[in-house]
Amino acid sequence: MIDNKKISKFAISIVEELQRNKFQAFLVGGCVRDLLCGINPKDFDIATNATPNEIRKIFKASRIIGRRFKLVHIFSKSELIEVATFRSGDDHDNEGHFLKDQSGKILRDNIWGTLEQDTFRRDFTINALYYCPLSGKVEDHNSGIKHIKDKKIISIGDPLKRFSEDPVRSLRAIRFSNKLNFKIDKNIKDAIYKKGHLLSNISNARIFDEFCKMFLNGLGEKNFKKLVSFGLNKYLLVTSHNESDISKKLINEALRNTDSRVKNNQSVTPGFLIAAMLWPELLKRSSKNREINLRKYFRSMDQILRSQQKITAIPRKFHTYIKDIWVLQLKLHSRIGKQPYKTVNHPRFRAAYDFLLVRERACDCKGVLGDWWTKFQKNDRIQQKSLIAELKDFNDKESHKKFGFTEELI
Ligand code: ATP
Ligand code: MG
Repeated sequence: MIDNKKISKFAISIVEELQRNKFQAFLVGGCVRDLLCGINPKDFDIATNATPNEIRKIFKASRIIGRRFKLVHIFSKSELIEVATFRSGDDHDNEGHFLKDQSGKILRDNIWGTLEQDTFRRDFTINALYYCPLSGKVEDHNSGIKHIKDKKIISIGDPLKRFSEDPVRSLRAIRFSNKLNFKIDKNIKDAIYKKGHLLSNISNARIFDEFCKMFLNGLGEKNFKKLVSFGLNKYLLVTSHNESDISKKLINEALRNTDSRVKNNQSVTPGFLIAAMLWPELLKRSSKNREINLRKYFRSMDQILRSQQKITAIPRKFHTYIKDIWVLQLKLHSRIGKQPYKTVNHPRFRAAYDFLLVRERACDCKGVLGDWWTKFQKNDRIQQKSLIAELKDFNDKESHKKFGFTEELI
């Protein structure tokens, strides 16, 4: 049923090695699910009854990670495989190895158990399949294979309880339903509505991880739409109430741009997307009557990033990247004297220019400015000079509102 050729050789060798040492070991989770759905898995996870210390002893190139959920990372030159010890899910008599908070959120889960017990702590039935590449058998204790055939996302246990234990599961349900084209079970939908608000208690580091999985995997536009339909977008992004149509269009356009880059194997960065997704908010805070107030603009950049940081832990390097893109939007509108040469040589010019095109597409503008920069960057020095000269008249007329680009060109 599963073709081992589609599985990382390194992952198979780890399963073999664990079994040679008399432990149980299986490929588990997303990789088994994806293989059964005919999708090439993006990574391979392993589950075993060996404890982290026992795993560490067998594999030299390995490291124990995590406190909340202890795991072992095993490395080869080019791969990293996550190996998790079976959990029992038993929450009493545990000497602090298992911990929940008042809302029922699991703070720590480090009590080892059996394969049967481990299946029950997984989120969805389709994610609770254990495959042994040596025997070719799949362990399926929750009808996961049937649910793959039925194209359904079904919770293991009561989703109200399961989503309180870990609210990120609601985001995962949305993501998997779009990725696999599966229907979300009705009681999961109810649980998302009832428990979605618990996402505000999740660490910004975990939300940032989910943010990247949601929006940088080629299905960002679809995922965002579904998040909005469940009212969960505010747990990933600083948003204001009653957003204008044009703001929504801009966010969609940016996501579409990212999705198509993923499909074409071009690089994508959360920085670009965050700059775009927060752009409407930046304009809202810093403009009045279609005019940008520069002082407010610069102040709002930091304020917005600070608010977003509380939601998603954006790595530092992206803060400068995002601010560069924003500042360059101003510069792209100013095409006087030496400025265009400076702008085009800025290390972030390419990203800023791409963002300008996204903005233009979002407001169905004719793209005069984008076209100008398309020509400017391609041309030689003489042609560039004449492009600036052609603008002189226009600049003279427009100079009183150098940065007047709010509504028509959000
Ligand atoms: P993908 O890697 O495509 O995002 P995945 O299902 O492999 O999907 P991972 O985050 O890699 O997701 O997790 C591997 C497996 O661990 C899952 O399939 C699931 O069985 C289990 N798992 C992960 N996160 C959770 C969670 N929050 N609650 C319960 N089980 C989880
Ligand atoms: Mg995975």
